[in-house]
Amino acid sequence: MSRIEAKKQFYMMYPKESSNIELQNIQRAKTDKHIMKHVSPQYIDEFEAQLMSDTLQYSNDTRCDIIMNNVIKCSEITEITLALEQTFIGFIDQSDFNNARAKQRYHDGSCLVIIGRNIILDLIHISEIITLRYIQMFQLVPSVSDTLLNEWRSKLILKRTLSFDAEGFELSLIQNDPEEYFIGISAAILDAAIAFIIGHECGHHFLNHTKNPYSDSEFAQFMKSDWKNSLPQLSDRHIKEFEADIFASFFTFKFIEDIRIRSCIPQFDFAQEAGFIVAAIHLFLNKSDPTMETLDHPSPFYRYKLIMTNLKSLYGPDKSEEMKTLVTWICEESGFADTQKWERQWWSQ
Ligand SMILES: [Zn+2]
Repeated sequence: MSRIEAKKQFYMMYPKESSNIELQNIQRAKTDKHIMKHVSPQYIDEFEAQLMSDTLQYSNDTRCDIIMNNVIKCSEITEITLALEQTFIGFIDQSDFNNARAKQRYHDGSCLVIIGRNIILDLIHISEIITLRYIQMFQLVPSVSDTLLNEWRSKLILKRTLSFDAEGFELSLIQNDPEEYFIGISAAILDAAIAFIIGHECGHHFLNHTKNPYSDSEFAQFMKSDWKNSLPQLSDRHIKEFEADIFASFFTFKFIEDIRIRSCIPQFDFAQEAGFIVAAIHLFLNKSDPTMETLDHPSPFYRYKLIMTNLKSLYGPDKSEEMKTLVTWICEESGFADTQKWERQWWSQ
C-alpha cells in the first residue's frame, strides 16, 4: 500500500519538519545542560541508538507510528487495515498548529493526517492530572502521601502557565516515585488519548469524508471557494464528525486491546480507558459554553455524550460509570475547571 504522495505533500507543506521528531528531540536534549543534569548520558545514548535503528513507517513521530502499527497489526486484513496502511500521520513540531486535520485524499489513494505539537501538550497536561487520581485510588506509590499528591496536583494545574515550576516538580517526582509510576501511567493514558485523536482523523479517511469526487482540477479549485460559509449550518458536516468519533472509539479500543495482551505491567493498562476521557475533556479546553456548535463541529457536549455511549458499548456500564466519576473529579476536585473558567457544569448534565 502506498503512502508516497501523502508523505511527499507533508514535507512540501512543512519543509522544516524532521523525519523523526523524537530522535531530533533527544539530540537537542543532549546539548541542554538542564536536562542532562537529571539523566544519565549512557541512558540518553542508548535511547538515541534505539531511535536511530527504528524506521518510522506511518508517521514522523515515534508514538503515532507505534499506535498505527499496533492497530494495523491487531486487526486481521480488513478494510480498516487497508485504509490505515494508506495513511501518513504528519506531526507538526515547528509551527503553531493547534489542531488535528485530515487532508483531502491524494490521487494515489493515500491520505494525510496532520497533528500539531500543541494538541499533544494539552493531552499530556490532562493525562498527568488524571494519573494523580489513579495513584491515589489504588495507592500505587506507598511513599507518596495524600498531602504530597495534593501538592503535585496544585502544581500541575499550573502547567502551561508561567507559574509552573517544572524543575521543582520533576525533582519531587524523582525523589518520591523511584519506580516511575507517574511517568508510566501518564504515558499509558496519553497513548490512548493520542490514539483517539488520530483515530478520529483516520475515521474521516476511512468513511470517505476526504475523498474528492471531482477529477477535473480546475473545477476542484473552484469548489474550494468559501461558498459553504455563506450558508446556514450544514448538519451533514456534524454527522461526519460524530461518525469520525465512533471510528475513533473503535480505533482506540483496538489499540488498547493490543497493549493489554502484551502488557506485563497490570497496574498500567487499567488506566488506559481514561485516554477516551482525556480526548473528551480536551474538546472543552478554552471553551466556556459546552453547548456551542460551530459550522464544522457539533457542540463538545454532544461529542462527549457520544464518547461516553461508545465507552459503555465497548467496555460495559461499570467502566462508563467509572469514567463519569473520573470526569467529575477532574472538573470539581482537581481545580482544573477553575483554571479553564468553565461556566457550565457540562459534566453533570
Ligand atoms: Zn473531524
